[in-house]
Order: sequence, then C-alpha cells, then structure tokens
Amino acid sequence: MTPARVTGTPGRTRVLIVGGGITGLAAAHRLRERLGPDAEIIVAEQAMRLGGKIHTVDFAGRPVETGAESLLAARPEAIGLAEAVGLGDAIVYPSDAKPALSLGGELLDFPAGHMMGIPGDPADVAAIANAKERPDNGLPILEPGADMSVGALVRSRLGDEVLDRLVAPMLGGVYAGDVDRLSVRAVMPQLAAALERHARLTDAVNEIKRPPSDGPRKPVFATVDGGLERLVTATSASARAEIRLGMTVRELRQTPYGWEVIAGPVPDPIKIKADAVILAVPASPAAVLLRAVEPQAAAALSGVAYASVALAAFAFDRVDLPERSGFLTPASEGKTVKAATFASKKWPHLGRRRQIVRVSMGRLGEEALLQYDDPTLAKTALRELGEHLGMRLPDPVEQRVDRWGGALPQYTPGHDARIAAAREALGVHRNIAIAGAAVDGVGIAACIASGQRAADTIAATVVAADR
Ligand SMILES: Cc1cc2nc3c(=O)[nH]c(=O)nc-3n(C[C@H](O)[C@H](O)[C@H](O)COP(=O)(O)OP(=O)(O)OC[C@H]3O[C@@H](n4cnc5c(N)ncnc54)[C@H](O)[C@@H]3O)c2cc1C
Repeated sequence: MTPARVTGTPGRTRVLIVGGGITGLAAAHRLRERLGPDAEIIVAEQAMRLGGKIHTVDFAGRPVETGAESLLAARPEAIGLAEAVGLGDAIVYPSDAKPALSLGGELLDFPAGHMMGIPGDPADVAAIANAKERPDNGLPILEPGADMSVGALVRSRLGDEVLDRLVAPMLGGVYAGDVDRLSVRAVMPQLAAALERHARLTDAVNEIKRPPSDGPRKPVFATVDGGLERLVTATSASARAEIRLGMTVRELRQTPYGWEVIAGPVPDPIKIKADAVILAVPASPAAVLLRAVEPQAAAALSGVAYASVALAAFAFDRVDLPERSGFLTPASEGKTVKAATFASKKWPHLGRRRQIVRVSMGRLGEEALLQYDDPTLAKTALRELGEHLGMRLPDPVEQRVDRWGGALPQYTPGHDARIAAAREALGVHRNIAIAGAAVDGVGIAACIASGQRAADTIAATVVAADR
C-alpha cells in the first residue's frame, strides 16, 4: 500500500460529509447557508453517482424512478428544500386516484378514517377485517418514553385481521418490514405520543387523525416533474460542495485538531483532514467507521437490520387499468408482489399515452427473491399483476428490474432510545454527527430533516470554535 496522499487547504473551515444520498446533500446545502461561501464542504460518495436510493431513469420515454418516487408534502422539509434549490415550479402532485387493497382476487377500496391501517372505529373496516376493540384497563397504553411493536399493539387491541390485512400492507409499502418487530415510537411517533394519553387505541387514532376540512384537501405527497433526481442535482449544485464520486471512506480517526479519514481505493488511499464530519451513510458503513471512535454508537448502529426489495417496471401501450393509483396486498395472499403503483394514473405529469406500472416485491426475510435473474422476476411480477387485476395483460413494450439489497432500515422497539444514547456517546467527540435513514426516519423528508439537523449541530460548534 502506498502512503496516503493528504488533501486540504490550511486556514479554511472544512466539513467532510460521508454519503451523497439526499441526507448528505441536504446537510451540505444547509452547511453552505450556515458557514458561508468560504467554507470547504466535501461530499465523499462511494458510488459513481449521487442520490443513493433516489435514482431516475429514462423508461419508455418517461422519467421513471427506480427507487423512491414521492416526497411527503404533509411535512415541510422536502418541499422546502425543493423550493430553496429552485425547483418550486417543478413540484407536482398526484391525481385523486386512490390505492386499493387486493384481497381474495378483488381490488377493494381502502376504508376511510384510518391511520396507517389502524381504524378510528372498528365498524369502518368491518368489510375487510374482523375488528373488535378489546376491553382496556383504563390506563394509558404506553408509559412515557416506552415503546412496543406495531404488531403487539394492534393484535392486542383490535385483533390479528386488522394487523394482517390493513396495517401490515400499509407499513410494508414503506418499510418492507415485519410489523411484529417494527417500533411504534419510531414509525408512528404521533401515535406513540397519543398512546401515552389514551387507554383505547381507537381514541388515540381519533385524536391524531387529520380532521376533515371544508376546503380543498392539501396533498399528502408530491414529486418533481422530470424525476426526483433533479432534487439531488439541484441540491448538490446549490450547496456548491466539492463532490468526490467513487470515493469510499474506509477509516475515521480523531486528531487533536479535528478528523482525518482514509478514503479511496486500498492501493491508492487518500487522507482527508476535516474540522468536522457528518456520517450520512447506512447503518452498517456508519458502524464500521465509528467502531474505533465510539464503540457504543457503533454497536447501536450495527443493530439496525435492513430489508431488501426488488422493483419491476412495465410500460404498456394498450391496457385498461382500473382508475386507482395502485394496490397493496397482505402477505396472507401468498404472493411475491406486495404492492403496485399505476404510475401514469397516479402522476398526471407522466401522461397517459403509455401506462407505466411499478411492481414491488420483497418483505423482510425474503432476500432469496433477489437471487432470481431479471427475466424470472419480471415474469413473476407480470403474472401476479395480471392475477391481482383479474385480467390477461398484454406484453409490455418495455420492462426493467431494479434490486435494492439491504435498502430499508428496520426500526425495532427502542430504536429512538438507542439512537439517542448513541448520539449522547458521540457527543463527547467534537464535531461529528450521524444522520440519515438509518437513524431519524426512512422517508426522504425525514432524511432531509436529519441532514439539516446534523448540519446545524456541526455549524454551531465549528462557528463557536472559530470565535
Ligand atoms: C425502493 C425504495 C423506494 C422508496 N420509496 C420512497 C418514497 O417513495 N418516498 C420516500 O420518502 N422514501 C422512499 N424510500 C426511502 C428513501 O428513498 C431513503 O430512505 C432515502 O433516500 C435515504 O437517503 P440517505 O441519504 O439517508 O441514504 P442513501 O440514499 O442510502 O445514501 C447513502 C449514500 O452513502 C453512500 N455510502 C455508503 N457507504 C459509504 C462509504 N463508506 N463512503 C462513501 N459513501 C458511502 C452510498 O453509496 C449512498 O449513496 C424508498 C427507498 C427504497 C429503497
């Protein structure tokens, strides 16, 4: 191994961000705002492109997402960032088409009045699940700060069918996880807070359900016309960061003056010195980098399991899809396909000349699925899609398969407390922060908030040290 080359400009504040997904880029953007034009902000990304789980491709002449497809517009961070980087005019919203629940060979309407599949009134879901609220003991369901799994909560209060037929498919779309191992506090924080005040689950749900409004409903989701990768590119440009692609960060060391990382290929390593470091990578690389620095934080991160998913996309020239945005289906239906999005029904900006359907496969523990070759996965997806829709589908004019191995972090009960303890342990080391889907929430909006929070923390200490 040749001696490491050292890069750096003496006298300028330098922050190194490890990971060029949306978290790292949102952090870079916020750091530029906080530290001004002179700061050196470096983003080291191991892949040859930015964006991580956001990746837009040209498919059948349309910009189609191979990973994340929508932004949560119900919270401010994603739309706020898009506007801040000049994409305000490109934000587009879905049509009024709603997703269906595919059950017993039928596409059924999702009942109204639920929160992630948990009803505010068992009668609302009677057509789909046998739901009966169990007697309670008059005490709040959760003690302050306590946690439990979504599965344990819903099974014990409303029964197995509500969990298996409604809640699991809803959460499966986001986490691809096992509801018996998903933390209520991490995946439904608002509900967890309400459970500290209520003895009945339905009362907690009714407290936080969005009240019906008289005016036009504000859309919950949005995306960017032209693809979410535009958000990645625009954020990166607006951050004016030095982007280093193909640069894997392999080692992190604390020095008396800040941090030093070893990056790049093993035979030709590069040593980068920085005043501060933000780790915006998945849990496993973050744990590796922190092992020698702060073992407690490394242990908390290495405990985060990941689920894998595969997506098949199909473009059809002539097909009569239902007027729905797609469907979800419970694992009890015994299918490989767990959800489908009728992209061109859901997103009017994609146009309807060609119908584009994205089919997702894979739940936690179904990693073997990813071993099948592309034609086999596509064939399975297409056959099952036809079964769900009750029709023989024509041959697609174009198809593709994308695999996301180990892509979706699973927050088990106690996740928030473990991450808080990891952050506390890291707090004794100056100028280092962790952020991203592994720690603060899986959705893009949550990742942006997490990157911004890390940047705020670092900017505050770096600026204080300069005074
Ligand atoms: C199939 C799929 C669909 C999804 N759909 C949605 C959706 O519709 N809406 C939504 O809000 N969210 C969705 N998500 C979740 C969301 O996309 C991700 O949680 C989010 O984009 C993660 O961002 P991140 O920056 O934290 O991590 P990542 O995107 O994983 O970025 C981390 C980056 O770090 C790099 N890296 C790792 N190790 C190193 C290292 N040692 N050195 C340098 N670089 C390194 C990686 O290459 C990667 O680019 C989806 C996720 C998947 C997989």
